[in-house]
Amino acid sequence: MVRAIVGANWGDEGKGKITDMLAKESDIVIRFQGGANAGHTIINNYGKFALHTLPSGVFYDHITNVIGNGVALNIPVLFHEIQELTSRNVPMPKLLISDRAQMVMPYHILFDQYEEERLGGKSFGSTKSGIAPFYSDKYAKIGFQVSELFDEETLYEKVKHVCETKNILLEHLYHKPLLNPEELFETLKEYRKMVEPYVADVSVFLNEAIKNGKNLLLEGQLGTLKDPDHGIYPMVTSSSTLAAFGAVGAGIPPYEIKKVITVVKAYSSAVGAGAFVSEIFGEEADELRRRGGDGGEYGATTGRPRRMGWFDCVASRYGCRLQGTTDVAFTVLDVLGYLDEIPVCVAYEVDGEIIHDFPTTRQLEKAKPVIQTLPGWKTDIRGIKNYEELPENCRKYIEFVEEQLGYPITMVSNGPGRDDIIYCK
Ligand code: GDP
Repeated sequence: MVRAIVGANWGDEGKGKITDMLAKESDIVIRFQGGANAGHTIINNYGKFALHTLPSGVFYDHITNVIGNGVALNIPVLFHEIQELTSRNVPMPKLLISDRAQMVMPYHILFDQYEEERLGGKSFGSTKSGIAPFYSDKYAKIGFQVSELFDEETLYEKVKHVCETKNILLEHLYHKPLLNPEELFETLKEYRKMVEPYVADVSVFLNEAIKNGKNLLLEGQLGTLKDPDHGIYPMVTSSSTLAAFGAVGAGIPPYEIKKVITVVKAYSSAVGAGAFVSEIFGEEADELRRRGGDGGEYGATTGRPRRMGWFDCVASRYGCRLQGTTDVAFTVLDVLGYLDEIPVCVAYEVDGEIIHDFPTTRQLEKAKPVIQTLPGWKTDIRGIKNYEELPENCRKYIEFVEEQLGYPITMVSNGPGRDDIIYCK
């Protein structure tokens, strides 16, 4: 069976933890989109890890971890992560890299920086990992597939050709040093040595595995609201964050994805620019940020403080719907235990009109939150294992959110560890 774990919100919902937890019953964990621009935080017996490129199954030796064709593969970052794991006593994970995955080139990272510099105050708040230039090149058909590393002659010609184009931009638009094709070619030869043992026709492997009744887990990055089509365009990421794209980014039939576990966070947080209707500021935000996640709400990749807000029913319902949710995993609920009352955004007001459906960006920017306040539970719920043992007001909060979402909450996460989970149904 194929399951997908994806985010309903702006990312950082705690997908890493849920994936790490569910990976146990999986044979294969697959990354199908995105790159090293976001990260999962995982806490387990080996310690605390921030994964940016490796699938979250790397801590289990029975799992094959797959980098699908849809991923923006940064080879040095991948190998750095592997080293980080093995140097901390995690056994070398089983890893396969799609021969159709494309590579983040060193110049993609440069172009990302240069473009943000050029935009100045109007920048996208990119993590400067080269993701936008990478996907632009992929769809402009001048990207490099892993498979191309294995044909040096053709590779060299393409490197020369691409450098010519890039150098025009570097010289005339950005006024930066030019690329040296010989140097780039040498770098790519190094990349080949690094990936060679892991390269495979991943789509064939996965389709065989499905036929043989294996359990596959598609691991999403970021969340619905960062999807280039359905998110808060243009403040989105450059590849689809939706479960449906899992079929494309892994090379499997869409009808094989039987379960979509959408991770929804008990309050809101976001990084980067863009409309954020239920955002809060000042001391109220600082306190939630300080108490949030595990050790505060700061980016796993960048360390940037996250923007904070109350739970947004409009955005989360939309987030779940676009994912095709079968199950909701409701996370970081323990964090809200300090509040006397918990504000929740239940609708938006746009130009005097109350709306319940998540609008396009122009309207979203004008939207004001309609807030309803629920009573808090004022206790620490960490360590609780059974739903019935949760304080009544806590259960009421969960049930309120479930009704607002319209999808069943089947898991509640009440702490960062693997075992901090309450199964509800
Ligand atoms: P991801 O990108 O969706 O995996 O999200 P992050 O890696 O940013 O995870 C959010 C943070 O919350 C991490 O530091 C997790 O360890 C932590 N976390 C996950 N679930 C819970 C939870 O239920 N309670 C608390 N307190 N922290 C959690």
